[in-house]
Amino acid sequence: MISENTTVNSSNKFLIESELLDKLKQEMVKAADKIKKAIAESRLIILKHHADCDGYIGGIAIEFAIKPLVAKKHRSVWYHFKRTPSKAPYYDYQDSLKDIHSGLGEIKEGKKPPLVIIVDNGSTKEDLLALKRIRELGFECIVVDHHKPTFKEGKAVVAEHTDIFINPYLVGGDSNLTAGMLGVELAMMITKIENIEHLPAISGITDKAQGAEFEKYIELAKRKGFSVEHLTKLGRCIDFEAFYIGFFDSSVVSNILLMKLEEQKKYVDLISYEMEKRVENIIQSAEKYLKMTDAGMFEIIEIEISNLLSRGTFPPSGKATGMIFNHMSEKREKPMIMLGKGEDYITIRSNIPGFDLNKMIAELIEKLPHTRAEGGGHELAGTVKFAALAKQEVLDFLKKYLNDNHGAN
Ligand code: MN
Repeated sequence: MISENTTVNSSNKFLIESELLDKLKQEMVKAADKIKKAIAESRLIILKHHADCDGYIGGIAIEFAIKPLVAKKHRSVWYHFKRTPSKAPYYDYQDSLKDIHSGLGEIKEGKKPPLVIIVDNGSTKEDLLALKRIRELGFECIVVDHHKPTFKEGKAVVAEHTDIFINPYLVGGDSNLTAGMLGVELAMMITKIENIEHLPAISGITDKAQGAEFEKYIELAKRKGFSVEHLTKLGRCIDFEAFYIGFFDSSVVSNILLMKLEEQKKYVDLISYEMEKRVENIIQSAEKYLKMTDAGMFEIIEIEISNLLSRGTFPPSGKATGMIFNHMSEKREKPMIMLGKGEDYITIRSNIPGFDLNKMIAELIEKLPHTRAEGGGHELAGTVKFAALAKQEVLDFLKKYLNDNHGAN
């Protein structure tokens, strides 16, 4: 996939030393060149990113790099560059139609079709329809993601529907090299930007990254004067902000990221206090309404999470399930699995040794295809979605699977 004739500028050094990043370098240089060329050609650039802290950091870093270059060329930057959070954790079809609407206007005026950049999304079969649709109209597309791509016959299904596809899974890496890390490094290739060296560490913390790259970014942030404690709180606060911003174009998060440390600490204190209160309240009512079953080798905790929470209020169900799970696992000795149930989904958290929820979901899909189950995540944290009518059947399956595979033998 990496072409031989792209010259890698050796002065383009990454912020950290990483063999994995080196393997992505040629594609990243190509992406940086494509973005600069799009600016030179006055193409509309549309940047989409996942609406969580990692997605915001990747997207905003690239925005920081693009905006000054566009401003040199055009007075109305907003007209030539648009960044919006993604409604779904993939390139949503409705979003693609909005982009097409903007693009068709450009094409009518005799301009080249837009360049779409997708950050922290864009690697899976869920992205395909939207990608195919925009590319059919001549849009160019760059994906910068760290989610596991959907592979078919050994090839990532989105590869042929993107112009440049940057994903650590393609070069032997995994999701530990976050979209925020990739976005910051790509941004630095486009324009040298000051004061963003601590951003990859925040994205790593919020996306629970591990490994050599993450450690190096943490060290880098510390050298820049940011403590892990502050960055952890800041990351949580940005998730809080992202939840309420929803899917609108907003400069709120960029503003927070650029604040002076003292000002940033004040903001973090304000929001952290509020979040702590909410977590306490949720845990209090969760303890009242959860159902605990001893399954011998482990415990199952069930809760109707969507009915426990207030709609439209932070935290959403995935985060709340995680918070309750963390609280319960500190109190209990046995390994456990928590099932946070909604109408047509179950959010799963576990610490059962050897458990991999992706295997469990794969078996569910194979054995009960009519439930239309899909989803996954990391081994110990993820979500399965299904037809709402199949909820009890899915639940029964999960419990049987757990007993067969992780129960006493
Ligand atoms: Mn991410």
